[in-house]
Amino acid sequence: MRVLVTGGAGFIGSAVVRHLVLEKRYEVLNVDKLTYAGTQTSLQAVGGAPNYRFLRADICDGETLSRTLADFKPDRIMHLAAESHVDRSINGAQAFIGTNVVGTFTLLECARAYWSGLEGERRQAFRFLHVSTDEVYGSLGEEGLFSETTAYDPSSPYSASKAASDHLVKAWERTYGLPVVVSNCSNNYGPYHFPEKLIPLMILNAMEGKPLPVYGNGAQVRDWLYVEDHARALDIIAERGRVGETYNVGGRNERRNIDVVTRICGLMDGLRPRARPYGELITHVADRPGHDTRYAIDARKLETELGWRAEETFDTGIEKTVRWYLDNEWWWRPLRERYAGARLGLPGSQP
Ligand code: NAD
Repeated sequence: MRVLVTGGAGFIGSAVVRHLVLEKRYEVLNVDKLTYAGTQTSLQAVGGAPNYRFLRADICDGETLSRTLADFKPDRIMHLAAESHVDRSINGAQAFIGTNVVGTFTLLECARAYWSGLEGERRQAFRFLHVSTDEVYGSLGEEGLFSETTAYDPSSPYSASKAASDHLVKAWERTYGLPVVVSNCSNNYGPYHFPEKLIPLMILNAMEGKPLPVYGNGAQVRDWLYVEDHARALDIIAERGRVGETYNVGGRNERRNIDVVTRICGLMDGLRPRARPYGELITHVADRPGHDTRYAIDARKLETELGWRAEETFDTGIEKTVRWYLDNEWWWRPLRERYAGARLGLPGSQP
């Protein structure tokens, strides 16, 4: 099995690459531009593996993509490359339109040309998995869950750009027959998460005794999924998902942001005790514009049809995550220092 992964140096992409290279023993080519969000230090575990290759390239560069597809001859494309940070999209949407919309379009066109040239079983078995977010569905009230048939209603430039890319991918199946599958997942957390995102930001600020900035009253609800559970789900969806279908991915772990931060503080109190409880560092700051109230995923289709289940609960996953950041300063310290000023003047980052 030969898999071309885009965005494999990012948070989720690197978990996917580690899973495919080390557990599944697939031949993997990782195509990544290495923006601020991509780092090969997340891929040290696969660095020397004979079944892993890396190509630094932009998914907007159709010529390079076409050549790469012809050379590598993948059985599958797993498309994760994206601009992914909501706060950054609010402060400047251009890169989001460039990569998420134009980049996805470019990749689709190259994939279509490549797939058209395949024959027989290889053509039949080829899959293009587009990895997307539950943010395309907009916001929920206190009740209900996002299902695969929930209407799109994105709130931020980020989610609007992902919604656009989802529509392009679906249209390439309906119009040209490209065998695509789409996955929409809730918020991920876990090791190798970029230091500006909510959970790592809180852990690292706590470690350094800095304020823990929580948007508004912190009552926004997110449905958290451990990143390695997502990586396994993506492999299963790419392998067995039905062409043209969407699969929602989520771990049934709804938590209010303030409760996530409080839980991190409680874990820190136990793992790295200090004179005063970490909870005292929590600081409420002005809310983000267009901040969605609640996301929650109904993942029953993926669970019943494809047999996937999340292995981590929020409690087990968050403890692993806090411990990982405590033990892996070599990974996060250079990123945190390089991008300390990159939070665009916003007081804190939310997923
Ligand atoms: P990330 O920001 O950590 O990583 C994105 C990767 O894409 C980086 O390695 C970056 O260098 C690369 N990239 C960006 N622009 C590129 C371009 N033009 N060409 C090639 N590579 C480029 O993102 P992530 O959190 O790992 O998310 C991966 C995918 O999963 C995204 O499509 C995102 O929308 C989706 N997703 C994320 C979450 C989440 O909670 N993080 C949840 C659901 C879906």
